[in-house]
Amino acid sequence: MLEHPSIKELLVKLGKKQAVGSVLSLLGWDEQVNLPKNSVVNRARQMATLSEIHNNLESDPVIESLLKDLEKDWEELSREEQTVVRHTRKDYDRATKLPSEYVAEKAMLDSQAYHAWLHARKNDDFASFAPFLEKQITLCKRGAAYLGQAENPYDYQIDLFDPGMTVEAIEGLFNQFKAELLPLAEFILNSSIKAQTDKFRGFPIEQQKAFLTEVTGILGFDYSRGRIDVAAHPFCSGNAADTRMTTRFNENVPLDSLFSSIHETGHGLYEQGLPADHLHNALGQAVGMAIHESQSRLWENQVSRSREFWQHFEPKYRETFSEQLAGLSSDGLYLAVNAVTLCPIRVDSDEVTYNLHIILRFELEKMLFAGELEVTDLPAAWNRLSQEIIGLTPPSDTEGVLQDVHWSGGMFGYFPSYCLGNMVAAQLWYRALEDMPDLPSDFAEGKFDRLLAWLRENIHQYGKQFDTQNLVEKVTGETINPDYLMRYLKDRYVPLYT
Ligand SMILES: [Zn+2]
Repeated sequence: MLEHPSIKELLVKLGKKQAVGSVLSLLGWDEQVNLPKNSVVNRARQMATLSEIHNNLESDPVIESLLKDLEKDWEELSREEQTVVRHTRKDYDRATKLPSEYVAEKAMLDSQAYHAWLHARKNDDFASFAPFLEKQITLCKRGAAYLGQAENPYDYQIDLFDPGMTVEAIEGLFNQFKAELLPLAEFILNSSIKAQTDKFRGFPIEQQKAFLTEVTGILGFDYSRGRIDVAAHPFCSGNAADTRMTTRFNENVPLDSLFSSIHETGHGLYEQGLPADHLHNALGQAVGMAIHESQSRLWENQVSRSREFWQHFEPKYRETFSEQLAGLSSDGLYLAVNAVTLCPIRVDSDEVTYNLHIILRFELEKMLFAGELEVTDLPAAWNRLSQEIIGLTPPSDTEGVLQDVHWSGGMFGYFPSYCLGNMVAAQLWYRALEDMPDLPSDFAEGKFDRLLAWLRENIHQYGKQFDTQNLVEKVTGETINPDYLMRYLKDRYVPLYT
């Protein structure tokens, strides 16, 4: 219940901030999808102006006085009211405790470092990017200090993406997981059974698009309040009222378009399932990146790489691409959607080895923030650890330390969410199977509504009422436990590659 007089006033303020923020997000989507190339400067001006308005709404001193009123009456507040106040306080402090010179310096650096990264990646020239990366780390540490987290800047970074998670907690989970994942990955990669992916060539884009739009609609994405378009990189933005997904097409990599669209659909289903009346406050917003990623991964992997899913969709897929798939058996198709191959590029990796790429990045970020690794030594450390953890040394920095955009924007602490999301997805999956043991047989009939309703009830409806670990514990009876992901990977991959 949201009844305290100050909360009603606060919600009006938050509503305006959300409206402006969602227009900014829409302009960002449009920039990736539609913007004519000579309109970039005009768009930058529009976004700078709106960002300023957004910042002013976000740091409005009236919010501070309303929060103080509410914090004074904390014990009398309902749980929903406490959720709104707790998160508004966190956002407000982050918006106001950073000096404006710092914010301007960071915005300038983000832009310069992004272009430096593009240049360095293109020319395989890490040295030219290193000074920008060093400055990003310094600014992140300063940012943490302004918020009273000078002692634990990497924890501060992690909390930005996954509220409540810490370096120590992640370290424990990753170490436990890595010990079992390495032998499994080795077993699969050494298997003489290899997926035959050479059939997946020359898939006309129009037909790919029609197929994936049908599939994502059947999974439950509501196209009456969302859409899918083409962009250079797949993403999902917007909110429950208007959810924008993107994908990319390549005639010769059709499984990438299909599965990345299903992945974004998982994000979209989460957004569309959040309480629509509360878009502007914590009750209608996603918990954090790990939970978001658990939703996308669950639909992408546990659901859409399953036998049952393909039992339903294979006839339609073959009808659509009959010439290309001629001669490929059902088992061959199933193996191809579950292909495992060693690859230096994270985003091209399968669901088994992908986790190793994340553990590598976490180890390096930890050392950088602890002062145990200098930025200039980063490429050598990357290559050494990549050999140790993933089992390969990238052929160049472009395909190694320079491959991801995240660090150029100072987004340290973001990578762990991807692996945590995989862990949460598997944990939720086995919990859902306990509640509905015959769930996979739904998929064979092309029915996904029972699973979606289960996720709506157990995850989506709560918004930010629980932090990552608390939500996982509430639904499954324990905090994040990597054993479920291990069990899932073994269940799926050992029989396939034996
Ligand atoms: Zn994702």
